[in-house]
Amino acid sequence: MPASTAVVWFRRDLRVHDHPALHTAVAEYERVVPVFVLDRRLATGRYASPARTAFMLACVEELRETLRGLGGDLVVRDGEAVEELTALVQETGAEAVLWASDVGPYALSRDKAVIAALKELDVAARPQPGNFCADVSKPRTGQGRPYTVFTPFWRTHAKLERRPVHRAPSSVPALPSSVRVGKLPTLADLGLQDDVPEPVTPPGEAAARERFADFLSGAVVQYEARHNDLTGGTSVLSPHVRWGTLSVREMEQRALDHGGDGAAAFARQLVWRDFYAHVLLLHPDNTQNAFQERFQALEWSDDEAGFAAWKEGRTGFPLVDAGMRQLARTGWMHNRARMVTGSFLTKDLHLDWREGERWFAHKLLDGEPLQNNGNWQWVASTGVDPAPYFRRMFNPTTQAKKFDPDGEYIRRWVPELADVPPKRIHEPWTMSDEEQRAAGCVIGEDYPEPIVDHKAERLRAMERYRAVAPDA
Ligand SMILES: Cc1cc2nc3c(=O)[nH]c(=O)nc-3n(C[C@H](O)[C@H](O)[C@H](O)COP(=O)(O)OP(=O)(O)OC[C@H]3O[C@@H](n4cnc5c(N)ncnc54)[C@H](O)[C@@H]3O)c2cc1C
Repeated sequence: MPASTAVVWFRRDLRVHDHPALHTAVAEYERVVPVFVLDRRLATGRYASPARTAFMLACVEELRETLRGLGGDLVVRDGEAVEELTALVQETGAEAVLWASDVGPYALSRDKAVIAALKELDVAARPQPGNFCADVSKPRTGQGRPYTVFTPFWRTHAKLERRPVHRAPSSVPALPSSVRVGKLPTLADLGLQDDVPEPVTPPGEAAARERFADFLSGAVVQYEARHNDLTGGTSVLSPHVRWGTLSVREMEQRALDHGGDGAAAFARQLVWRDFYAHVLLLHPDNTQNAFQERFQALEWSDDEAGFAAWKEGRTGFPLVDAGMRQLARTGWMHNRARMVTGSFLTKDLHLDWREGERWFAHKLLDGEPLQNNGNWQWVASTGVDPAPYFRRMFNPTTQAKKFDPDGEYIRRWVPELADVPPKRIHEPWTMSDEEQRAAGCVIGEDYPEPIVDHKAERLRAMERYRAVAPDA
């Protein structure tokens, strides 16, 4: 009687701890064949990101080492999921394929094709949980509709069933000897060149677990009070959440077990991620269109010079520039800065939120359609969790004064402003000639004048939004 065999298909869940598909396969099958299929359509398509791909490849490499340490291995294939998985199943005689289910439109169509192909071969397709705190397809309002507002979603989500958190397996069966293990392509093989010089966190599960443990034993206590501070306060775990080197279900459980207001606020913040996954699952058209239909008619500018200044962090607004430069250098940006830079793009420069979404997707190590789209539509006031558009027009100067009062964040990312006196750091254009000379920063030469008049552009944005939503 041949040994029972299961394939475990790793995608963006690059870990061995709390991995339901791996856990189930190890418990129920004699042979386990972990595989990662490099999907070139994702790596080089619309949202291609050299830095994020480099991060992913390093996580896959580490996962392979970890599985080897446990006695197993990771097969790597470079090609279409359907073809590679059906070939592997036939090569190994596997009777089942297990993976962590996902909810984005691309993942859903790919999974559908894989399920159909496996059915043809009489192989069981066994999607498992693993990518979210709870089952994001379940929540419905009292009227039986999907949620579009966060707080009631969060209340319902809190009552959803939770699966147990699994330990890493103590061992993984060796691969059948006939299986070709395969080589992971390099970034250069994919025709990509990394352009983020100082990634905000090292890749891999070990680094993720260490950072999370440090956060739980330290900064989490202050999370509620400090998460908006631009120089700290948050976990900076999002690249790991994105690639699943940490399980959000485990993060949630450990935060709740930790207790206290800070940890409770952190656990609540994780639910935003489940919320946006719920929204995109039930409204897949959001990837192209405004969720609120009336905002499809909004007119957008095609100001290429403004867009270039925004991307390069030379708008003349210190907080906007600091955020955009932090993104370019590290592949990450603080959430408050994401809101301010997003508002600046859509409501000061009047550029389409989809342009901003695409640039973030290109640069962010944590970039993913579910979260990027939901948050961009939130900032542009076109999405779910609506508030009147005039409430989400962030003033980049007052935001900086509030969340970076000493200008530490600005000085860190905009070195031209390092010696600007504290009382001028948020409005360097108000420096006298003498102050500019003393600070070594001549406005218009060393650092740009503001490229727009925020007050005037705010009024223009109000008109644009009012034109399509007179009653909002
Ligand atoms: C315009 C814009 C675009 C964004 N694009 C992305 C994106 O592509 N990918 C992404 O993961 N986040 C995105 N965010 C959300 C948020 O900015 C980041 O998740 C957060 O800054 C990550 O930092 P952290 O790990 O220190 O967060 P923490 O505050 O420590 O939060 C812990 C975790 O909760 C989740 N989380 C927190 N806030 C949000 C949120 N608003 N939406 C969804 N999940 C959240 C993240 O997984 C995060 O790692 C975007 C926000 C804005 C305003």
